[in-house]
Amino acid sequence: MPDCLFCKIVAREIPAQLVLEDAHAIVIKDISPKAPTHVLVVPKKHIDRLSSTDDGDAELLGRLQRTAVAAAAKLSLKDFRLVTNNGRGAGQSVDHLHYHLLGGRPMEWPPG
Ligand code: 5GP
Ligand code: ZN
Repeated sequence: MPDCLFCKIVAREIPAQLVLEDAHAIVIKDISPKAPTHVLVVPKKHIDRLSSTDDGDAELLGRLQRTAVAAAAKLSLKDFRLVTNNGRGAGQSVDHLHYHLLGGRPMEWPPG
């Protein structure tokens, strides 16, 4: 296993507040929330970032969006933002693919 924070959370070696789990992903509360609701959709498979995926990951990528929809429903979010930061310049700090699901306040556009 790579020395990876989110792999360790998936393996329950590091604790996290679990919102939802399915066959391919976990959804956890962000430790430093940027909105009243801020959770992370994390695939169980280690992939560095979105640009590291290939065509074989297409089904997983679709499923992650469906997992985000399920998490939004569970958290009673009608309006939400789903975003991934790809690379340091885009704000990525953990090198394991994840989507931020944010809601509970008005969202500005474009993000900074
Ligand atoms: P990124 O900056 O890579 O797009 O997103 C990483 C996110 O992981 C950040 O929003 C950060 O607050 C969150 N994070 C960092 N360390 C931990 C942790 O140990 N537990 C949880 N639940 N979230 C974390
Ligand atoms: Zn990982």
